[in-house]
Amino acid sequence: MRLRRALHSRGLRYRVDYRPSGLRWRCDIAFTRAQVAVFVDGCFWHGCPEHSRPATTNSEYWSERIANNVARDLRAAEAYEAAGWTVLRVWEHESVADAVNAVEAALAVTARSGCGAVRK
Ligand SMILES: [Zn+2]
Repeated sequence: MRLRRALHSRGLRYRVDYRPSGLRWRCDIAFTRAQVAVFVDGCFWHGCPEHSRPATTNSEYWSERIANNVARDLRAAEAYEAAGWTVLRVWEHESVADAVNAVEAALAVTARSGCGAVRK
């Protein structure tokens, strides 16, 4: 994934496909010390407002599948936040540069708030 390479080249170190203990969902990229979790969502499967067009055949089936995915995404994000994580969602259509900026901003915020130091 291009985002991973870009983050790595910025000197950021992270875990891939990580599941914090006590949580049911994996995230795509995790900064475990800062507790920042990144979910990279496919446009079709996760109901991207720009690219997820209703399918022409079996549209009920697909829209239900996608609605289920979106609901699960929300539950996962809530569970992470309840466990003290900062959740970042990135659409697959977003540019890598934008995604890197968003990750770095989230890391900067958690570093400033010092929650990494308070939590074990
Ligand atoms: Zn999209």
